[in-house]
Amino acid sequence: MQKADIIQKALEIGFEDIGFRTMEPFESQKAVLESREIEYDFTLDKGLNLRKGLDPKNIMPNGKSIIVLLDVYFKWAYPTQMEGYFGRCYMDDDRIIRDQLYNRVKEFRSYLRDNGIDSRFAGNIPHRLTAARAGLGTYGKNNFLYSRKAALNSSWISPIPLIVDYKFETDDPTDFVGCPSWCKNTCISSCPTGALRGPRNLDPRKCISYLSYYQVGITPLDFREPMGTWVYGCDRCQEVCPRNRVWLSEDLPPNERVKAKMNDFDLTNLLHMDQKTYQKKVWPHMFYMSFEEIWRWKMNTARAMGNTNDLKYIPELIRAFEENEDERVKGMIAWALGRLGGEESKIALERFKLNSIGSVKNEIEHALNILA
Ligand code: SF4
Ligand code: SF4
Repeated sequence: MQKADIIQKALEIGFEDIGFRTMEPFESQKAVLESREIEYDFTLDKGLNLRKGLDPKNIMPNGKSIIVLLDVYFKWAYPTQMEGYFGRCYMDDDRIIRDQLYNRVKEFRSYLRDNGIDSRFAGNIPHRLTAARAGLGTYGKNNFLYSRKAALNSSWISPIPLIVDYKFETDDPTDFVGCPSWCKNTCISSCPTGALRGPRNLDPRKCISYLSYYQVGITPLDFREPMGTWVYGCDRCQEVCPRNRVWLSEDLPPNERVKAKMNDFDLTNLLHMDQKTYQKKVWPHMFYMSFEEIWRWKMNTARAMGNTNDLKYIPELIRAFEENEDERVKGMIAWALGRLGGEESKIALERFKLNSIGSVKNEIEHALNILA
């Protein structure tokens, strides 16, 4: 089997790039995980064993090489009503609904199989590091991988590593930071929650992505305002990056798949959705929160509404306070009303206070103090 045939097939199927790497264990990543054990221990609870992924042999003992496919997830324009609220890499995620990317990976693996090569998808090996070692791009100080050729060398890309039982000649690695010296760490100074502590040094527990879908309990007060309008994920450190500027100014055709579900992700609809709508319309597309965590969607939506400065959300928040039992949702609604302000919010909060106890009452009092 020739590398050139495989490259041609990957491009034919619609991947933008492809690289090849050895099975060498990820020693540098091991050192990172060991030195930041506490920061990453949540991944085990979420079913992602990063330690196991440090040696590709743990995933496929008879593996001989790693093929990395590169997909651009921002090939089409996302609706402006969704940008700034949902990270772009999640808006067209088809891992549950098994649509276009899923089928392309399947087709590529079938092609390998038809040519006598077995493959395993390696979900827990460090994807960006593997891709950089396979020469597919360089790092940004924001930790993202920037493509060597796809999407005008930007970071709107997903590397998909497949371990294969066939030895291919490896590509030259490019696992270094490729940022221009004139960019004075824009991504780091723009990170609203201080999650980026320095070049390629991220505290995952402070990243808005983590805070939006994994934070235990109600979002801590200090993070609510910096999280802005993000409901699920965050693109800020990629949006401010000059390496992404050219692609961001491209006139891309609309993403019709995402447009079709835009209404389900409207803030007002998310705030009032019922369990059936959540499971059927929202969860299959953004699934990091479980079926039991509809409260988290509503809490995030209330926080985002509070940060919009848009007074049209006040009646919706008042209605949602009365619709919901969950104290985390009610508490965040109170915070959002305090943040949006105005007489209508104040009257509602005073009324809610009469029948509230515990943490909800505390949130209401805090909101009323802000209003005062
Ligand atoms: S995704 Fe957002 S919160 Fe996370 S590091 Fe980047 S800017 Fe900071
Ligand atoms: S903002 Fe600047 S430092 Fe950060 S990734 Fe982009 S080019 Fe590099």
